[in-house]
Amino acid sequence: MKNAYVLFKRYGVALLSCAFLSATLYAAEETAPGVKGVTEEEFTPAKEVLTVKYVEMAKPYHMDVESLEGFFKDAQGVTVPLQMQDKAFPNGGGSVKSAEVKGIHDGLAIYFKVTWSDPTRNARAIAVQEFRDAVALMFPLGAVEITPAEHFSPRMGDREKPTNLWHWKADWEADLLVKGELEDMENQYPNMHDDWNFNPYSAYYHRELITSVEVLSGGRAAHNLLSQPGRGRVVEDLNAEGFGTLTTQAHQDVNGCSKYEDGTWTVIIYRSLITEDPHDVQFVPGGTTYFNMAVWNGGEQDRNGQKSISSQWHPATLERVAWQ
Ligand code: CA
Ligand code: CA
Repeated sequence: MKNAYVLFKRYGVALLSCAFLSATLYAAEETAPGVKGVTEEEFTPAKEVLTVKYVEMAKPYHMDVESLEGFFKDAQGVTVPLQMQDKAFPNGGGSVKSAEVKGIHDGLAIYFKVTWSDPTRNARAIAVQEFRDAVALMFPLGAVEITPAEHFSPRMGDREKPTNLWHWKADWEADLLVKGELEDMENQYPNMHDDWNFNPYSAYYHRELITSVEVLSGGRAAHNLLSQPGRGRVVEDLNAEGFGTLTTQAHQDVNGCSKYEDGTWTVIIYRSLITEDPHDVQFVPGGTTYFNMAVWNGGEQDRNGQKSISSQWHPATLERVAWQ
């Protein structure tokens, strides 16, 4: 026993250090494969608060950038620094260095205007080598306090800390302008031929297939929003609880509009302050929430996790409604 005490006295500190190191390494290995740990400073929200200004908005108005832009003239924006997505494989992005975000509401709906520089307008993603320009805003679900002590990952949220994402896509907006509201192969390749046209009897033998697009298109049969014509919207409403959990919603509530001019995208994304969807963020005048964002530049082959991201949450406070 005495020997054991002497051994502990002599080697105890080293043993405790080993135990601590093992525990630390074990904790560091807890993140998903291909995902590096999030640093402590990323758990600290940005200091600058976005004030979502209350603005009286006369209706009816056209829901396009030209009609809506003027309402933002007295709103103070925040500049959100962006960087390459460097935590989850495959890494990428980083070509867009920052974006300006402004917010307004009229007591009924909330509007975010996002502007950023992008030398290329990429509004089609049909050919395999084509990728779209896009922007996503992300909000925590429910009333949350985000502090370094109260971890909430700014990168797609955490397990049991879900987020609501609003994903504007340049090609969805382009879809609205074509017949049938879905740009497809014939828009990309107007002179293409396919096997059906070469077989004079195909219409007879394959009439069931030809008359049933649901059979031909697995995406449409599965009600995948990406494959649906006539979505009538340019923003996808999604949820995520960490990397690899992005899920489109059954109840789509968000829409938007955009303008590309002089190498700058201006995208306005809007939604009712309150929805009936339990998977949506809800906004209360006078209340505070947080947002984070990502930007994709299709011209630099950005897609999925290859994107320019903000590595911090940003506080946003809605002004109270000023009753006249
Ligand atoms: Ca681009
Ligand atoms: Ca929804």
